[in-house]
Amino acid sequence: MPDRPHLLHAPSPDDENESLGLIGSQAANPPLLPTAELLADLSEQSAKLETAEPEAILEWAVARFGDKFTMATAFGPEGMTILEMLSRISPKTWVFNLDTGYQFEETLALRDQVAKLYGIEVELLRPELSVAEYEKLHGGPLYVINPTQCCNDRKLTVLKKAALGMHAWASAIRRDQSPDRAVAPIVGWDKKFHLVKVSPLANWTKKHVWDRIIKLKIPYNPLHDAGYTSIGCKPCTRSVTFGEDERAGRWSGTGKTECGLHTQD
Ligand code: SF4
Repeated sequence: MPDRPHLLHAPSPDDENESLGLIGSQAANPPLLPTAELLADLSEQSAKLETAEPEAILEWAVARFGDKFTMATAFGPEGMTILEMLSRISPKTWVFNLDTGYQFEETLALRDQVAKLYGIEVELLRPELSVAEYEKLHGGPLYVINPTQCCNDRKLTVLKKAALGMHAWASAIRRDQSPDRAVAPIVGWDKKFHLVKVSPLANWTKKHVWDRIIKLKIPYNPLHDAGYTSIGCKPCTRSVTFGEDERAGRWSGTGKTECGLHTQD
């Protein structure tokens, strides 16, 4: 695992980069900047990889970005499938989980299974404030009245810090999950986090993912067997009923559909 910062309060080189206003690959050595040449190259690579198998896409990313390639996972079925692939392709890839403090116990239990089965120690990255400190600051759980701010504070801020000094990250999104995700390239520039974003499962369907899970006996969150099709934080996730959209159980009734990791606004 590369020498990565833990989100502690002590100053680190990444804190210095933050104070300089650098984000993502701007803080890398060497930096990676979205020049016209880079964007054209990424577009060309994405087109070439459009019909490639996910493993081939991951192999390309590992060869291109080395130890500056990382992955965030919430241990969903897609993420677990990629972790199994990475265990064969590049088990030393630095993988982390955005540990908001609100995750299901069943989700966090998968971390140990991944370590045992695949030899990948997923690092839990936490916001600076504990749940108790955060709720005290806001006079109660912020997810009730402002889930966007809560996701920003407990996920996006942590991911931005994790992205400092990296060149690229893997996402587990599928194009058929939502209109937002339908336009995701295989390889593209993520301007929000200032990283190259690689989506090896963009062209896979839910069936592809579950066929792979069953075939290779990849562990998965037992809540999926209880009607939870998409699993995030406990207070913002419910099970869905037959006929509902796969992501209908996330922030149900709020109008919010994404935590902001995979949107560019
Ligand atoms: S999913 Fe809910 S609890 Fe988790 S960070 Fe977002 S708003 Fe907060």
